[in-house]
Amino acid sequence: MKWMNRGEELNEYKAEKLEHEKFYVFGAGDIGRGLYVTLSFFGMFAGFIDNDVQKQKNGFYGQLVQSYQWFLENERDKTLIIAANEANEQEISRQLREDNCKFFLSGIFLNSVLPIYFFQKKKILFMNLAQICVTERCTLRCADCAHGCWAVDRNAKDMELEEIYVSADLFFSKIDYIHEFVLIGGEPLLYEHLKEAVEYIGEKYRNKMGTFSITSNGTILPDQALVDNCKKYRVLFRISNYVKAIPNLQGQYNKLEKIFLKEGVDYHFSKAEEVWWNYGFTDKLQEESEEQLIRKFDRCMTPCRETRNGKLYFCVMARTVSDNLGYHIGENDFLDLGLLPDGDLGRRILLEYNLGYSEKGYLEMCARCHGKDCRNYPVMAARQLR
Ligand code: SF4
Ligand code: SF4
Repeated sequence: MKWMNRGEELNEYKAEKLEHEKFYVFGAGDIGRGLYVTLSFFGMFAGFIDNDVQKQKNGFYGQLVQSYQWFLENERDKTLIIAANEANEQEISRQLREDNCKFFLSGIFLNSVLPIYFFQKKKILFMNLAQICVTERCTLRCADCAHGCWAVDRNAKDMELEEIYVSADLFFSKIDYIHEFVLIGGEPLLYEHLKEAVEYIGEKYRNKMGTFSITSNGTILPDQALVDNCKKYRVLFRISNYVKAIPNLQGQYNKLEKIFLKEGVDYHFSKAEEVWWNYGFTDKLQEESEEQLIRKFDRCMTPCRETRNGKLYFCVMARTVSDNLGYHIGENDFLDLGLLPDGDLGRRILLEYNLGYSEKGYLEMCARCHGKDCRNYPVMAARQLR
């Protein structure tokens, strides 16, 4: 969206009428866990709904899990948030529509409904997701890496620890609460100061995050100091599971799981990844009008912000691909957090930017990217270059 009235765009919005300030989370899995943490912090969590009988028996994260039938019989006037992957999300939405239930998809809820509601009703500046790329170096060379990390020299310079501190300080000086804050790469465990970054951010800002996570490809085992800091600051290890493309990673994953279990570190292995969507990301310009580019950007609405040296990038992929592949495209496509006006106006501008407003209404890289249509370009997940 193009800024027409910077700082005043929200006047057009009506905060979603969230009749019941407590929500049932449909799906007791990884997405549901995150929602539970964030909603509980604000006293807005009502309970889990899941049709898995085992989960109903055992509970999830210390919470009761009820069946959908129970929900229909007891709480059907309440609102659900669907916490499921895209394929299941469609199936569940269809069912809920048939039953006339009120619901949100988790992505829309976290990206726009909650941020606008919190800002308008509670003066809280809330964001869904932001990352710091501590290094662009990686132990793998995935041909379709959405950050272009395959092109980064193993000896390339990482972020200075001081830069990470500044990035986090400026970001959290503007944001009241974030659903998930991620340390990512490249492969973040290659970064020699990762434990210090976890400690600094954890010590100062853990109470401003729902989930604090590290996303790793699992090729490096964490040392004891990192494990200790992850335990102390409740860091969730997200391991991307590439055994389909690299079967011998399974042994490494087993070792990792053993460490996490023994040490009591929170972790989540993704389902073995088979297919990725290829965004394109070439240096070739696609012939599109301004209107088409704005539409492409608005349809895409990637949730992946990046905070880096005082700049907030809307699309971490656009920034990293441009840098790592040497395209130098869209180098001004960021919001300078340090230049935001003080007070309410600055907060409004930041919220608007996070909702997708900008001067151009799209990023330079959008003209080199398939956006949402990346689904028409499936590729094998984690296929390795030699
Ligand atoms: S997709 Fe992940 S593991 Fe693969 S090269 Fe990129 S950062 Fe590394
Ligand atoms: S369409 Fe634009 S915002 Fe979306 S992934 Fe591509 S470059 Fe990023």
